[in-house]
Amino acid sequence: MSRRPLVAANWKMNKVRSEAREWCLGLRQGLEEVSSERDAASLPEILLCAGPTLLTTVAEGLAGSSISWGGQDLHVESSGAFTGDISAAQLTDVGCAWVLCGHSERRRDHGEQDELVGHKAAAARAGGLRPVVCIGEGLEERRSGRALEVLDQQLTTAYRSALDQLEVSSLPATDWVLAYEPVWAIGTGETATPEIAQQAHRSLRQRLQALGGEELAQHLRILYGGSVKPGNAAELMAQPDVDGFLVGGASLDPEKFCAIIVNS
Ligand code: PEP
Repeated sequence: MSRRPLVAANWKMNKVRSEAREWCLGLRQGLEEVSSERDAASLPEILLCAGPTLLTTVAEGLAGSSISWGGQDLHVESSGAFTGDISAAQLTDVGCAWVLCGHSERRRDHGEQDELVGHKAAAARAGGLRPVVCIGEGLEERRSGRALEVLDQQLTTAYRSALDQLEVSSLPATDWVLAYEPVWAIGTGETATPEIAQQAHRSLRQRLQALGGEELAQHLRILYGGSVKPGNAAELMAQPDVDGFLVGGASLDPEKFCAIIVNS
């Protein structure tokens, strides 16, 4: 089954506009150099998720390229008295096509749980955005042998919550992406082995089959996230159920991010 890989950058709460401008230039130059040796169609789809104040700068910096951009979170309501939050309409207004939902840092720092994550994914769909739904087990859960069970539960609850909100019976594979990000691997420098990533992705694909059928299971892209670097991207990407990456730290440097794209 061929699924076009997606490589997404997550800048988190990093960069100011001048740095964002430089990064866009740097990545575009890097990709141009690559394209003299490699057919652009053989490269993965590319996405940048940046903080709210950077999105107009990113929109200018990436205009006319094939790189998409997106937000890092959204509110479930479309507008209203929600100080400090951002809506789907505000994201699409600055050209966002995507948004992260349920990143582990949102879960850790803002108490977001699976049902809300599904609700946010539904709000993203209703507002014309494609959600990247993030799930992942903690260190204790992995050590105690419960990782796959936890992932199963996270995916099932978030998916069912999104369907309930949207009042639909399925979320097609073209409308969203799933990201497996083991919490113990995010920002720690400790990457999941290719075997651990493959086992988790395979298990998630089986769960997707039970939740949404063969079509969804075979076509939905499942990204891996957690200390991806230029040096480990290729072996992770070689796993049959790994369809790309969500990259934090290494995405801040356009050269490193470009190298991950090339190795994907
Ligand atoms: C992330 O922010 O989703 C992430 C995976 O971060 P890092 O690549 O730094 O581990």
